Amino acid sequence: MSGIYIHIPFCKKACFYCDFHFSVSFKIKEKIITAICQELKKRKDFFDSKESISSIYFGGGTPSVLSIKEIDEILGVVYGHYNIEKNAEITFECNPDDLSKEYLRELKFVGINRLSIGIQSLNDEHLKWMNRSHDACQAKKSIEYAAEAGFNNITLDLIYGLPQLGDREWSDSLKEALNLPVNHLSAYSLTMEENTPYVKLVNQGKYKKPSDETSSGHYQILVQQTRDLGWEHYEVSSFCKPGNYSKHNSSYWSGNKYLGVGPSAHSYDGISRHWNVSNNQSYLEFIRSGNRSFETEKLTINNRMNEYLLTGLRTKWGVDLKLLSDKYNYNVASIFEEDIKYWTSLNWLEMKNSKMKLTDKGMLFADHISSTLFMS
Ligand code: SF4
Repeated sequence: MSGIYIHIPFCKKACFYCDFHFSVSFKIKEKIITAICQELKKRKDFFDSKESISSIYFGGGTPSVLSIKEIDEILGVVYGHYNIEKNAEITFECNPDDLSKEYLRELKFVGINRLSIGIQSLNDEHLKWMNRSHDACQAKKSIEYAAEAGFNNITLDLIYGLPQLGDREWSDSLKEALNLPVNHLSAYSLTMEENTPYVKLVNQGKYKKPSDETSSGHYQILVQQTRDLGWEHYEVSSFCKPGNYSKHNSSYWSGNKYLGVGPSAHSYDGISRHWNVSNNQSYLEFIRSGNRSFETEKLTINNRMNEYLLTGLRTKWGVDLKLLSDKYNYNVASIFEEDIKYWTSLNWLEMKNSKMKLTDKGMLFADHISSTLFMS
């Protein structure tokens, strides 16, 4: 279950809350694509020759600013240098305003089989407020067009917790979004990330801060509505029709290997993490010079256990305490007996056999709870 992640570091507009790496200047786009292809060739030994790749993920930034020729060129290098499974999941993140009927047909033709469409909201004012490059009508149309083009594996991104988004409106847009021909939803709470325009606008008194109360209310509506429709809530922010999990993300959460190429992309080889420089020009220079474009950190046993706790508790499968004890001699249940009792009494945590899982309520505090169980 290994994967390849390809970071496309360009966006037409800067959404005010976003802290991913991207540039709105496209001047060196072609050079970056060439460099990504070079990096893919150069790092082919990241995987053993027998290791097969079960997922490829184009993320960003906005991969849909690429031409079909550029996507095809990248995929050509991937298929030419890696052992890609026949039924590999190939996800492509895109923005609705880029999805013409023709572009979608061609995406399908070059082998993309899963679309991740960033609709974020179905309210024009809210989309404008977030500085998104599309409107609600384009969002709905893009999904219809994608289905018409033959995509049957479509995931949507939605953002909740906007200060001006009422519970009723959130519930209605959720209903409308889940009625579209999609089988997966990633829903994120609006947060104020450091160094984003949102923080500046709040500090200048021009925008309101998100409130925990609003977010938690929206989250409860989200959990209830998806459940009423028979969807699975399989990770804090991920929901799907039964069994339609994201292979690529599930593989991250299971601690499998993945190679990330492009500026700011991260990789994990089972022992160490690597991360590429988060600057387009510096990335080009690293690739041109033949020097390594990434920094490395070797994970200690404690790092690995803590990551397992962090990611495991975020999923519906939870954490296997027997595995932690057998593999690492780390007995969480007895070391943190009091904390576990406390979380359980609040109905945030459940223990079943050797499995420790968060309840829907507990999922809201997943990162906090897992950090209290970390091995220091
Ligand atoms: S399109 Fe996506 S990556 Fe680009 S600025 Fe908006 S949220 Fe960030």
